[in-house]
Amino acid sequence: MSAMDALFTVQDEDTIVRQLNHHHANLPERMALAEAEQASATTATQIEEHKVEHLDLFRRQRRYEGEVAAVEDRLTELDTLLYGGTITSPKEAVAIQTEIGHLRQRLDSLEGTVLEVMEELEPVERLVSELDARGVLEAAVVEERRQELQAGEEVVDSEINEARARRSAAAGEVAPDVLARYERIAGGLGASTVVHFVGSDCTGCPYSMPAVEADRVRALPEGTLAECTECGRLVAR
Ligand SMILES: [Zn+2]
Repeated sequence: MSAMDALFTVQDEDTIVRQLNHHHANLPERMALAEAEQASATTATQIEEHKVEHLDLFRRQRRYEGEVAAVEDRLTELDTLLYGGTITSPKEAVAIQTEIGHLRQRLDSLEGTVLEVMEELEPVERLVSELDARGVLEAAVVEERRQELQAGEEVVDSEINEARARRSAAAGEVAPDVLARYERIAGGLGASTVVHFVGSDCTGCPYSMPAVEADRVRALPEGTLAECTECGRLVAR
């Protein structure tokens, strides 16, 4: 490979590496992973919200059940008192019966409330368990997407490494000062940093070389590197 061909190879491989880096950053697997993560995060947020709701209802149910138990205890106490044979005054017996009547009403009302809360709790419970199951599935999808991305990245990474190895081998055949000139301006000119001299023009820019300059470049021995006075590209004679 001539030094000039080697310089073109360096440029070609640099272009390939740039494209591969772009491809690496824009892998469809990366987008797919981001979507899967988004879905999973949305479900996690929903689970949190409904778990708070669930806990709130669950506590209300427990509280009313506690009140039911307390009223039942008191009723048992009053029954024992009323039929235990220790009451002697009818007035006292009437007072106890009145309290029992009130407590039975209270008990009915509390039991109704417990049922209402349980009915409210049931769909929330079902929803939380559905969301939990969905969360598990979505976490598995995220993991799968992550592995697919990793596999995709590995393919591109290995292509980048191969291009870099070819670039490095070609760069070894280019004079260090030429390589330095190329690298100094390649950041701005990219894939057309080094261009061919065709006819009487630099093929990299839309301008025509001044005739005197074109004559000078044409007269250079083949394999010489000139610099376009119009665009600053390296022109290979
Ligand atoms: Zn030019």
